[in-house]
Amino acid sequence: MKNRIFLIILTLLITTIFSVNTYTYTVKSGDSLELIAYKHNIPLSLIVDYNPELAYKKYIYPGQKIKIPEEPVFIYTVKSGDNLSYIAKSMFTDLNLLIKYNHITNPEKIYVGQKLLIPYNYLGLSYNKKVTVSWPVWGELTSPYGWRIHPIYHEKRFHSGIDIALSEGLPIFSSITGKVVEVKKDKGYGIYVKIKAGKHYYIFAHMSRADVVPGIIVKKGELIGRVGSTGISTGPHVHFEVRTLDEKSVNPMIFLPGMKFAHVEIDKNYMGGE
Ligand SMILES: [Zn+2]
Repeated sequence: MKNRIFLIILTLLITTIFSVNTYTYTVKSGDSLELIAYKHNIPLSLIVDYNPELAYKKYIYPGQKIKIPEEPVFIYTVKSGDNLSYIAKSMFTDLNLLIKYNHITNPEKIYVGQKLLIPYNYLGLSYNKKVTVSWPVWGELTSPYGWRIHPIYHEKRFHSGIDIALSEGLPIFSSITGKVVEVKKDKGYGIYVKIKAGKHYYIFAHMSRADVVPGIIVKKGELIGRVGSTGISTGPHVHFEVRTLDEKSVNPMIFLPGMKFAHVEIDKNYMGGE
């Protein structure tokens, strides 16, 4: 009996440490997502991350139930091939903080399916905000802009952006400060976010979920979604595209800072997709 009580207490303790409790908030008349985020002192993008169905439209209705995390914490599920230093780099956070916050005793031993928690304030902590346009993720450049043999259609097609591969579920940060003009699900682009800044649109595609809503202003380095493989895609990656206001694509490399700000290995077997 004593053993059983001990086990229950231990299980409770572990689940409390390694998960984030949420509570349900019922939308009141006059509420907006911005207001709810402000009232609960939780970033809007994190609220949307816990409620992915909110992403596609700005408006919410009274009576609607919204999950609010008790603490502003981003949760990432470890994928096959991940290691802690890769995860820390992709989150633009500190490896030691990640270890400490998750009570990891042996950093060499993480397992697929393990949930890693990171306080929102530490997400994107080392993200490069000094340049006008930053790399949206820390990944591997797998497909450049321009003509290529399409990885799915196996014919010559124009690639209107660049592909950066990294594990599914990792955060995508906004490359620029601007206004979210579209959050949509598209056959080719999958779940994508389109941001207008100055004379250009910036598109982040194939997300597993979008964490912003149309109409809001996002700052450079802010969480806007998670890496995925939605739409026409052969594996988890971000398709990053820059367009003029008349929807003509331009080479994103003209805007991005040097390769040393990204993981630069170029994959010879083109992965990615549209
Ligand atoms: Zn692409």
